[in-house]
Amino acid sequence: MHPYSRRLIVAFVFIVLLSSVAAAQEPSLRSISYQLSMSRPQSHLFEVQIIVELPEQLKDKPLQFQMARWSPGRYGVFDFAKNVQEFRANAPVTRVDDQTWSVAPHGNSTLNISYKVFGNDLSGTFSQLDTRHANYNGASIFMYIVGHKPDPVTLTIQPPAGWKIVNGRTERTGQTEWRFPNWDILIDTPTEIAPDWTQETFEVNGKKYHVVVHSFGPEGGKRPALVRDIEKIVRAEVAMWGAPEFDEYTFLMHFAADDRSGDGMEHLTSTQIIQPGALADPGVYDGALGTVAHEFFHVWNVKRLRPKELGPWDFTRPLATRGLWIAEGFTNYYGHLMLRRAGLRDDKQFLDQEAETIRRIESAPGSRLMSAEESSLSAPFIDGAEHAQLTNLQNTAISYYPKGELTGMVMDLLVRGRTRGRSSLDDVMREMYDEFYVKSPNSSYYLRGRGYQTEDLERVASRRTGVDFSDFFKRYVRDVEVLPYDEAFAYVGLRLVKTQAKEPFNAGLSIQFENRGAIIEAVRNNSPAEDAGLQSNDQIASLGGKEVTKDSLLKTLARFKTGDSVPVTVKRDRQTIKTNIVLGQPERFEYVIEEKKDATVEQKALRAAWLRGN
Ligand SMILES: [Zn+2]
Ligand SMILES: [Zn+2]
Repeated sequence: MHPYSRRLIVAFVFIVLLSSVAAAQEPSLRSISYQLSMSRPQSHLFEVQIIVELPEQLKDKPLQFQMARWSPGRYGVFDFAKNVQEFRANAPVTRVDDQTWSVAPHGNSTLNISYKVFGNDLSGTFSQLDTRHANYNGASIFMYIVGHKPDPVTLTIQPPAGWKIVNGRTERTGQTEWRFPNWDILIDTPTEIAPDWTQETFEVNGKKYHVVVHSFGPEGGKRPALVRDIEKIVRAEVAMWGAPEFDEYTFLMHFAADDRSGDGMEHLTSTQIIQPGALADPGVYDGALGTVAHEFFHVWNVKRLRPKELGPWDFTRPLATRGLWIAEGFTNYYGHLMLRRAGLRDDKQFLDQEAETIRRIESAPGSRLMSAEESSLSAPFIDGAEHAQLTNLQNTAISYYPKGELTGMVMDLLVRGRTRGRSSLDDVMREMYDEFYVKSPNSSYYLRGRGYQTEDLERVASRRTGVDFSDFFKRYVRDVEVLPYDEAFAYVGLRLVKTQAKEPFNAGLSIQFENRGAIIEAVRNNSPAEDAGLQSNDQIASLGGKEVTKDSLLKTLARFKTGDSVPVTVKRDRQTIKTNIVLGQPERFEYVIEEKKDATVEQKALRAAWLRGN
């Protein structure tokens, strides 16, 4: 080595060392204590106080208190700061931007800040305080301190008299104080506070499961059966994954009985499940079990085995990950499959559900424009996002939930078929969990292990099963080709049958009935309706010379066939517009997954292993 270059390298190393010191975390705060009270439940205002003890070095440096823009598990951007009011501190406050308040301690060793947050949505994403209860998702009410998310925090809750507190980290009855290793775990602990929730407990392989139910409508005596069926789901999922890491887990369930609140949200040791109806209502019981099967699967897939970008999170900008078709889509697939394996659905119910998902995906124009990975990247636009601006997402987007569900199912069947039953997607998922969660060194303060990228699944799936998945990922994950359903189903002695839907033509629009009449919900690109100049939100005054009602629509449509020119009158703003739709060739199809007549014994055995999980 030349002496000059040696000196250069020494200097370079020195600079790298200096800069790594500069980039290191600033000193931890001496303590961060959150206090939550709710003195006027009818105001829907949560009262938050944060008391911070500062170390000597930080007594003159402003601290920034920041409200998250969104919350893990739901990727629309909601800007929780919009519901913050009356931010106060024992030191000067400067509002820095829409989500940030800066507080200058000026030599104080204790900062005491307080604010109120309005919350009146019963939802795993938002929070609700009213005269019946408080139910919160921490990200929507607790600010973090910029640069100090890794610091340990404590929480003290002061409930209204007679209200009891419960969450997935409750260790004893009457508990009002919690310690969390960091802010991320604080907000991973949704909490219910009310006088009248109920709790039941069961054990599976030495782990305790609590089912907390708060019902706002009649239960019809179904709660004992609900708890027994949740236990069946837990057993089926533990049978696939092996023992979960926690000692106790809590299902926080609401039957909202308001016909609008519906959400399920996964957490490390709990889940929030909000069903819109009453437990006694038809269909609500089954809906709740479907949500349970999905959310409990997240204990492994997404909460622990997670895409690289999913923890710790950057809450100053929307999430950008290519992995939600795995994190959410595979969870959708397995949620359905686990109901079958738990004995809560039969083979036909499961296959009918998957055929319906195929119909949804294959009839969506976005399926041919948006890949599974692009759908994941588009999550902030499609997962519960509100749009003030009109969009064309009905024509361009698909959801990573059904898309990933089908991708997972097809991958599973290809593995089972090509390895003649020696391997499955279950094996791949267990291997991913092992490699990225159990055995990997921690990549951050937040949680054990490290996140994966979609290439990692491609690599692990190929290595574990001996099936080369590179072509599959190229065509079906990163591009928009139709999944190889025929090959996949044939391995288990099934076939996908596609038949033309009932209507004998295509108009290219969907209609919904509202109080003001028949409203065009969406118009397909390059369709007869678009050619006729129709657009979404038009009110259809008449079709084929007849007034359109819910009852008359199908009857009116039945009079026409492909090639007919149908006069349409619509109202748009203050105008009445007359046009003609020239009906096109039928485009809608229905799908059924059915038994192949010539299914072999081996194919039937593969199917049984798939559906029963052995
Ligand atoms: Zn409640
Ligand atoms: Zn999910």
